[in-house]
Amino acid sequence: MAAQKEPVLDIIVVGAGFAGLYLLYRLRTLGFQTLVIEAADGVGGTWYWNRYPGARCDVESMAYSYSFSESLEQDWVWTERYAAQPEILAYANHVTDRFGLRKDIRFNTSVVRAVFSETDGLWTLASDEGLSFGARFVIMALGCLSAPHRPDIPGISEFAGKCYHTGYWPHQEVDFSGKTVGVIGTGSSAVQAIPLIAEQAAHLNVFQRTPNFSIPAWNGPLDEESQRHWKNNYRTLRAKAKRTSSGILNMDSDHCAAELSPDDQLRELDRRWQHGGLIMWNAFNDIMTDPASNELAASFVRRKIREKVKDRKTADLLCPEDHPLGSKRLCVDTDYYETFNRENVTLVDIRSHPIEKITAQGVQTSNDSYALDAIVLATGFDAMTGPMMKIDIRGRDGVSIERKWSDGPRTYLGIAISDFPNLFMVTGPGSPSVLSNVLLAIEQHVDWISDCLCYMRDNGLEIIEASRDAEDNWVRHVNDVASQTLYTGSDSWYMGANIPGKPRIFMPYVGGAANYRELCDEVSGRGYDGFAFEHKL
Ligand code: FAD
Ligand code: NAP
Repeated sequence: MAAQKEPVLDIIVVGAGFAGLYLLYRLRTLGFQTLVIEAADGVGGTWYWNRYPGARCDVESMAYSYSFSESLEQDWVWTERYAAQPEILAYANHVTDRFGLRKDIRFNTSVVRAVFSETDGLWTLASDEGLSFGARFVIMALGCLSAPHRPDIPGISEFAGKCYHTGYWPHQEVDFSGKTVGVIGTGSSAVQAIPLIAEQAAHLNVFQRTPNFSIPAWNGPLDEESQRHWKNNYRTLRAKAKRTSSGILNMDSDHCAAELSPDDQLRELDRRWQHGGLIMWNAFNDIMTDPASNELAASFVRRKIREKVKDRKTADLLCPEDHPLGSKRLCVDTDYYETFNRENVTLVDIRSHPIEKITAQGVQTSNDSYALDAIVLATGFDAMTGPMMKIDIRGRDGVSIERKWSDGPRTYLGIAISDFPNLFMVTGPGSPSVLSNVLLAIEQHVDWISDCLCYMRDNGLEIIEASRDAEDNWVRHVNDVASQTLYTGSDSWYMGANIPGKPRIFMPYVGGAANYRELCDEVSGRGYDGFAFEHKL
């Protein structure tokens, strides 16, 4: 059956998370005919899918919000220091309706194929239901963490109880009351969900392979004074955030650890612990390059864990010893470690005694079996490349993204890919993305791409493509800066290490969000250095 084809548009955006929504707003304002295609039946991306108990942001709400509209900044009221998922999803819906975006979003439509034609310079996208869409440009706003990873544990489909994934949580409330629950995984999602599941369940078994470092959020209601401070100073604060390495205020440090006396080191670590959240990541400016500096912060957090957890053996198991602090994403929690003092919570060490299989009744490890009513897979995502690789994307000469990225992602600036003309990515691999406040990273990419499209329109240019040389140089640079850090020694999802068979490459750009922004501006300022253009066909 021939696919049903719709008229050719200027631009198709895939994904209606924060990136897709801002793209639609911006491109429409600039006069481009734009359609957004979204697999879900609503907007919000991450915040649409991740509805597990406790899901909330780990960048403070006042900063984890769009900066493109001053009236939106002033009107929206965040109620907590770190907003919970329902509030962030409500914000995404508010933005959608406030700017009239919904009518140009096609929901319940998964893009499975995207093919570039060298004959007419157009992209054709195919959906899972056989629909076909044509456009001159495609912008992949697929998100870095939108392809949930379900581990291939033997017997997993035989489990007779309910099995949930944090990244694919049901819309109806899940009630664990009176149930024996197993959570597999101890990353950020698990760290947020575990305290709340423990409050409800009759018993909770936490299956831990690798402990992570978690810092208290000290979450609470947002007081009027700090809201007013943000709202009165938004322009200054946003501009300041853009000059930082992560887009997050109060994070960067002016000192390497060795410059400080032991007392001052401790004071700084304690100050950051008391402030709470991600800022522990940069307690010293050499924390991700000098193992000794890193160990100061790591041992500080381990001491805190031992202070909180009463049972000595459980505390030891919760203390990360196998990776530098921050080389896996820091977790931000409310009462995570305290939860292991509850009578109804058991920490199961699956590093020493791995899960052998899942049976109809529950989980069987190499030395025990655990009868369960429900399993929660908090097992993460095929991050950064996963969402792109799930689509059969074909560029020049039919080259597939699967082949192009078979040894790891290759991009220019994390925005474009050689052999794939007129295709852009938002927060793609090779950009700071997940190492920063992602909302600021999204806005930077959307603005850059929009400016580039205007430049092309103004100059009668039809086709843009990253050159092979520029891409090779960028990939080399991304790898060079990563190799000078402690990130590459860790089995993190940044390295692709969480997915069996995935190439081990550090995927985000660790050279700093502010530096990166400058580099992108230099590229556009030099007439899009590293890109080749073609005039009208
Ligand atoms: P997403 O929100 O992932 O949206 C991508 C959209 O594309 C999805 O709706 C998806 O359905 C759609 N899509 C994907 N593939 C297809 C396809 N083939 N066809 C059609 N549609 C498709 N970042 C921070 O900076 N601070 C935080 O506090 C923070 N907290 C997080 C908490 C969780 C639980 C998770 C998982 C991530 C968090 N992140 C955080 C990262 C977060 O992903 C980004 O902040 C941001 O929401 C990403 O927006 P996005 O639009 O780029 O991608
Ligand atoms: P994650 O960090 O990748 O954690 C996955 C966990 O599952 C790890 O503990 C992992 O153990 C375990 N796991 C995976 N496969 C397993 C298997 N086969 N058997 C046993 N254990 C297994 O995933 P996530 O927690 O969903 O977080 C992903 C990212 O999303 C975060 O790093 C963060 O960027 C974002 N996020 C943010 C927040 C927030 O606070 N705002 C909340 C959630 C997510 P190993 O380490 O041993 O592989």
